[in-house]
Amino acid sequence: MLRVIEADITTLALDAIVNAANETLLGGGGVDGAVHRAAGPKLLEACKAIGGCPTGQARITNGFDLPSKWVIHTVGPRWHGGDSGEPELLESCYDSALELAIDNRVRTVAFPGISTGIYGYPKQAAAKIAVSVMRRYENKFEEIVICCFGTEDKVIYEKTLETD
Ligand code: ADP
Repeated sequence: MLRVIEADITTLALDAIVNAANETLLGGGGVDGAVHRAAGPKLLEACKAIGGCPTGQARITNGFDLPSKWVIHTVGPRWHGGDSGEPELLESCYDSALELAIDNRVRTVAFPGISTGIYGYPKQAAAKIAVSVMRRYENKFEEIVICCFGTEDKVIYEKTLETD
């Protein structure tokens, strides 16, 4: 099942939440900063041990002080106009994160809008990609949650779910 909610992803108690990380995995702004603050310093230690993640791929750590058990870190593409492989890389983020979730027996997982904040990916186009990948995987999970940070994003996802 796919579900759209409006929430701070760090407050959710699921098997896993997905973090929009950068290639260093050492924390940053936006949702990444919020995840690191809520998970506590052990998350940074775990991420340091991994040693980074290329754009389009995903890595998993414990959730530490978060209510969710795991954090799946994926590195979205920066938007450079759309002709630099951004759609394929964004699709690969959702794909890699969901594959890693399956490998770790995750049944409930929440995603933020990868790349749609600081990285500048247009929200509508990003939502279409997110929903198309999630639909391919939805019957392998109890629940895939689309966690929107603000009403505007929630409306975009609800429309995308209705029409795509
Ligand atoms: P990126 O660098 O991949 O663009 P951002 O963290 O800047 O990542 O933004 C990704 C998305 O996460 C944006 O839609 C932003 O509004 C949202 N976001 C930011 N903080 C949170 C949070 N605490 N919970 C859920 N979503 C969040």
